[in-house]
Amino acid sequence: MIHRTSATCQTPAWQQQLTSAFTRVEALFEYLRIDPDLLPGARAAAREFSLRVPVGYAALMEPGNPHDPLLRQVLPIDDELRLQPGFSTDPVGDLDRSVGTGVLQKYRGRVLVITTGACGIHCRYCFRRHYPYSNSSAGCDRWRDTLDFITRSGQINEVILSGGDPLMLSDNRLSQLAQKLSEIPHVKRLRVHTRLPAVLPERITTEMSGWLSDSGLQSVLVLHVNHAREITDPLRTALSSLRSAGVSLLNQSVLLRGVNDSSRALVELSEGLSAAGVLPYYLHQLDPVQGASHFAVPDPEAIELHQAVRHQLPGYLVPRLVREIPGSESKTPLV
Ligand SMILES: *Cc1c(COP(=O)(O)O)cnc(C)c1O
Ligand code: SF4
Repeated sequence: MIHRTSATCQTPAWQQQLTSAFTRVEALFEYLRIDPDLLPGARAAAREFSLRVPVGYAALMEPGNPHDPLLRQVLPIDDELRLQPGFSTDPVGDLDRSVGTGVLQKYRGRVLVITTGACGIHCRYCFRRHYPYSNSSAGCDRWRDTLDFITRSGQINEVILSGGDPLMLSDNRLSQLAQKLSEIPHVKRLRVHTRLPAVLPERITTEMSGWLSDSGLQSVLVLHVNHAREITDPLRTALSSLRSAGVSLLNQSVLLRGVNDSSRALVELSEGLSAAGVLPYYLHQLDPVQGASHFAVPDPEAIELHQAVRHQLPGYLVPRLVREIPGSESKTPLV
């Protein structure tokens, strides 16, 4: 089990918990009593993209059930090793759109900053599983170039911190970055895209509310919650403190076969988000990344699911069903 840090220890609880995350498939199999027949496939797939699951997230899964929708998002399986035509290693064209060190600009007025290559969890469907982070993340000494780029291109009014997961960085470093961004006159909004709170709610700290609200920028946190069971009491509590600090809360999910590919799962997700004060923003069609084809839901089925959700919920709880098409000027709605 997880132990809290003592008052004398300087490492925040969330960082300690990250160091105790499952990284060995054998340990996860044992903890969740997963059928050992699946072990060879898991080992092989984890050699391509390593396993990483925070203990607290694994604790939400049903032991003995390899189809658990939370487990499915993180369990390496041999399906990943099948090469599928149409599934590539850079499905959204990010490698072409890099405009400065660690900065991607695809859309007008907003840029995406790759703050770090690290994540607190490794999602098997991730389109960045093949991304060469070590060359392209805006690490310590590289923020100067990133900030210079944003300052020089006077059109950018929103900076999106992405990764990897930007919340892998310490609050101290993020606070410095937010401060520097707020000094650029044309930057008005700071947006953070993160999956960490959903899998490690302890990551939402008082310090984090501080740098999000103190910067003077309008701040938006986009959570990446895929399933209603990821919305726990600790997450709800942490989110309510962010809302009190004036942070707007949105969510984006990926439509995933075996995880949230039913109208019931999607309705429960929207209801759960709403109860936590979060508005559903996007429901993404999977990016066709090699190794994730078993998560794909065909467009006609996705559209049908989306319609079923629309018929059950108020409009503001229905996320926009979109996909990312390389070269487009925005995300592309399917309906
Ligand atoms: C998705 C994305 C954005 C954000 O798009 P919104 O429609 O504003 O949410 C910005 N930059 C890049 C490179 C993106 O991939
Ligand atoms: S970038 Fe997001 S989806 Fe990809 S592994 Fe990291 S947390 Fe998961």
